[in-house]
Amino acid sequence: STAKPLLELRDLQVFYGAIQALKGIDVTVREGEIVTLLGANGAGKTTTLRTISGLLTPRAGEIRYGGERIDGVPAHHVVSLGIGQSPEGRRVFPMMTVTDNLLMGAYRFKKVPQSDLDRVFELFPRLKERRSQLAGTLSGGEQQMLAIGRAMMGRPRLLLLDEPSMGLAPLIVAQIFSIIKEINAGGTTVLLVEQNAAQALKLSDRAYVLETGSVLVSGTGEQLLADPRVREAYLGEG
Ligand code: ATP
Repeated sequence: STAKPLLELRDLQVFYGAIQALKGIDVTVREGEIVTLLGANGAGKTTTLRTISGLLTPRAGEIRYGGERIDGVPAHHVVSLGIGQSPEGRRVFPMMTVTDNLLMGAYRFKKVPQSDLDRVFELFPRLKERRSQLAGTLSGGEQQMLAIGRAMMGRPRLLLLDEPSMGLAPLIVAQIFSIIKEINAGGTTVLLVEQNAAQALKLSDRAYVLETGSVLVSGTGEQLLADPRVREAYLGEG
């Protein structure tokens, strides 16, 4: 790809106390791409997303967004730069309606145009049908849709998605992946963390495999689908 880098992680190192969770990783996400981070449990995928969104401060290395350093920038400011996140475990507000959850995603705007809500309801017709329902009573798949829709209400230029397919039935997983593709086609760059390697790689322009805090291998989705190390460890083959 010849598009400009939107996000660049350079030699990023993150610690939890004495434990080093990221051992100097380099990741580039270009404008318009879908990039996936794969890796076993504990590899550092969630840590990477939490560091980008300003919830963790790296001990060393750089995060550049649109060419500007953003490591050390507080989380609320990172959101205002156009980096939206749907966190692991789809944390919706259970006692609020679907619509009110979506409006929470737009809290940084003084006014929320109806067209922003309409755009999310177009992506997720299921949420429109259920707009007055309490979020806590939605199914797992619907809550995942709501978490992504809420992030979209912040009009992100870069969307960070942490395991959007986790715990969902295959049919719902396919729907979620197809919506991610649609969001990307609408102009939003996507950085995705997934355990569902085969489907994520088919959707991705490029991907990185993390292993205990380091990048083991990276390449296009196609290259990694064909890579014997990836096939054996993440696609259940070999
Ligand atoms: P998973 O797929 O299980 O969510 P992951 O790739 O997202 O895994 P991380 O959650 O980033 O992995 O964890 C990376 C490493 O950092 C792990 O060894 C984990 O135990 C450790 N870790 C994560 N959070 C903390 C914390 N709050 N305190 C101490 N260690 C932590």
